[in-house]
Amino acid sequence: MIGRRHFLAGLGAVAVVGFNPRSRTWISVAEAAPFDRIPPLDGVLRMDPASLSAAAVDVGNIVHNTPIAVLEPGSVEDIQKMIRYCRRHGIKVGPRGMAHTTFGQSQVEAGLSIETKTLNTIHSVTSTSADVDAGVTWKDLLTQIVPMGLTPPALTGFTGLSFGGTLSVGGISANFGNGAQVDYVRELDIVTGEGEFRHCSAHENKDLFEVVLAGLGQCGIITRAVVELIPAKPMVRAYTFTYTDNATFFRDFRTLINREELDELYNFGIPNGSGGFMYQLNAAKYFDPSHPPDTATLFRGLSVDPAAGQFQDVPYLDYLLRIDSLVDFFRTQGLWDGVLHPWFDIFLPERTVEQYVGEVTPTLTFDDVGAAGFLLLFAKKRENFTRPFLRIPETEKWFYLFDILTANSVAGPDPAFQARMIARNNRLFEKARRMGATRYPIGVVEFSQLDWILQYGREWPVFLSRKRQFDPDGILTPGPGIFDGFR
Ligand SMILES: Cc1cc2nc3c(=O)[nH]c(=O)nc-3n(C[C@H](O)[C@H](O)[C@H](O)COP(=O)(O)OP(=O)(O)OC[C@H]3O[C@@H](n4cnc5c(N)ncnc54)[C@H](O)[C@@H]3O)c2cc1C
Repeated sequence: MIGRRHFLAGLGAVAVVGFNPRSRTWISVAEAAPFDRIPPLDGVLRMDPASLSAAAVDVGNIVHNTPIAVLEPGSVEDIQKMIRYCRRHGIKVGPRGMAHTTFGQSQVEAGLSIETKTLNTIHSVTSTSADVDAGVTWKDLLTQIVPMGLTPPALTGFTGLSFGGTLSVGGISANFGNGAQVDYVRELDIVTGEGEFRHCSAHENKDLFEVVLAGLGQCGIITRAVVELIPAKPMVRAYTFTYTDNATFFRDFRTLINREELDELYNFGIPNGSGGFMYQLNAAKYFDPSHPPDTATLFRGLSVDPAAGQFQDVPYLDYLLRIDSLVDFFRTQGLWDGVLHPWFDIFLPERTVEQYVGEVTPTLTFDDVGAAGFLLLFAKKRENFTRPFLRIPETEKWFYLFDILTANSVAGPDPAFQARMIARNNRLFEKARRMGATRYPIGVVEFSQLDWILQYGREWPVFLSRKRQFDPDGILTPGPGIFDGFR
């Protein structure tokens, strides 16, 4: 017989309390300590290395924050249970849609990543609305509703994005007369940072509704949304006109947006092959085949001859999915997955947009966009933007989304290129902010606490107080780093 004290001493003073016959190992005091069981789930909680490293990737390929577990929820209750669980243990939680933001916004270091894509039911469609889970993509909805003659009023260029993800950032379309996707949301289901389920709208739980729309996941996880739909025309006439001069381009662009006769208008800035960029003005008019658009009338009185424009008539759904097809093509060429995408995205006011674009574009080289990148400019009508947490310049009738959609020319890490592009973005953002711009926080700019406070301006105190109200322990969505300095 050996006494317990002698037995422990024989094991090198490790406090052993038992034996696990399955693994045939001794159990130490630490291992046998009472633990908090994971609640029963409808979905799956993954901890394997492949799932963890997959959750540490986004389209930017710059930030890689690895979670300690990945939840594939089988129900909204799973999200509630796991948020309560994480809250008890001070574990951060990051909702992740399609991870198409570019600077770690959807990632969570040493926390729980919630993959919303497993919540992907389109619950119902009427002639004026769609009721969808947060993990549904806009593309999923479009393929169902466009054949029914319906469309959302605002769509991003690429549509393989989740409802939860775009409604958390804003969702800006090339359709210059309308608001953002967040402006066409009627109802939301949300799980707060306390694990509470809330149904909300402009009339019910309004504070939560407002702060979650374009609220970067700070106050709740969107689990379901009811969004507006409108009738869709079956065809689109898509025009392109080429410009070489900034002032001429802006003069014509402004003439066209102020006439409000077209449906979409945007600029693609593309390397011109001799070290500079050309402006490719893209315009779209939706139409019924019985009433095709009159090109000469639409483009009258511009500095370019209407006949100089090229156009194509395309079925509406094909037109909406054209950037999805482009991304698929980049993928097949090895120009998408694993490629660094240090994107730069800002909102500029009318009064400075021409000067800013005119000064910045000539400083850019081919490297600044790459083979699979381009510059983008959308005009937007201010009065249709109604959500306070989508931070846009507050003056004038029009404001603009300007993007430098940089793609490195090869896949894989490239620390020198990455550092150069982040420094470029920081510098260009400083210049833009001095000219009245705000950041569209889908891209890559290093932001300090002060930068976030400036970004939210007079909404900052409201944002902070709602964060404290709906996520009192500050566990939700650390990716953007907005409240790092506040508890
Ligand atoms: C090719 C391409 C084209 C694009 N074109 C446009 C465009 O035309 N207009 C435009 O506005 N944007 C555009 N974007 C940007 C895109 O709208 C955003 O990156 C959007 O967030 C992507 O959705 P996602 O599902 O990938 O979100 P994610 O990147 O997964 O998430 C975005 C943020 O929201 C949070 N989040 C995700 N799901 C939820 C949820 N359910 N509840 C609360 N928070 C959540 C995440 O934690 C993260 O902080 C484009 C992006 C790409 C890659």
